[in-house]
Amino acid sequence: MDKFSFDDVGVKVGLEIHQQLHTNKKLFCDCPPIESDEYTKKFQRRLRAVKSELGEYDPAALFEKSKSKSIVYFGNSKSSCLVEEDEEPPHNLDEDAKKLALVIASSLKSNIFSEIYPMRKTVIDGSNTTGFQRTMLISQGGFIDVEGEKIGVQSICLEEDAAKLLGDKGSVREYSLDRLGVPLVEIALEPVEGSPTKIKKIALSLGKLLRSTKKVTRGIGSIRQDVNVSVKNGGAVVEVKGVQQLDQLEKIIEFEAKRQHGLV
Ligand SMILES: [Zn+2]
Repeated sequence: MDKFSFDDVGVKVGLEIHQQLHTNKKLFCDCPPIESDEYTKKFQRRLRAVKSELGEYDPAALFEKSKSKSIVYFGNSKSSCLVEEDEEPPHNLDEDAKKLALVIASSLKSNIFSEIYPMRKTVIDGSNTTGFQRTMLISQGGFIDVEGEKIGVQSICLEEDAAKLLGDKGSVREYSLDRLGVPLVEIALEPVEGSPTKIKKIALSLGKLLRSTKKVTRGIGSIRQDVNVSVKNGGAVVEVKGVQQLDQLEKIIEFEAKRQHGLV
């Protein structure tokens, strides 16, 4: 094949969108989500791998531990309390964030579960003081209409945002606590075939729908996309995490598809 064509290569893309919710407080405490680089407190932790519920160590956690990093957290008492420091149990789930997640799930015709349970997702890089992220599965299924085509929704979760990375030098990694615990909605879409332009249109439509609730945070960093790219007969699915701009999204899909196609 001389000329690269997205149709011939059969590019499949799965999008996962993380959108911060604009509520008055964090998901599991009363701290307001105020971003500031003025810090009034600082403490240090060391990461330690613990066995999972299945009695096994997470290989990624062991790998991180082998680097024996000290994690230093910076906080401001206006935007973080003992919950973010993991010195106090989480408070009740914020009702506004829950309602908003339900509104988003309804507008995507997603099937909402009758009961919601917080689960723990292991976090190995120190971006959460607890060593895990609290996440709740809200609904499954549904779709978004993009230019007459129904793009399927896999699942919608309500979860807490991670601490913000300030620096990573030598054996010390630094985070700030102001973003930790801010409510996020995670929407995972069914993988779709098509060009990067089509995928961008889908991301744009979803962004528009989220903004129509008038209750989502806007601006850089408030919406992040994880992109899974694979090509036909290519085997592996490659995930690119934390894409913040839609123009980047288009380019990443293109580069990744071309790279994988070159490997086939
Ligand atoms: Zn707090």
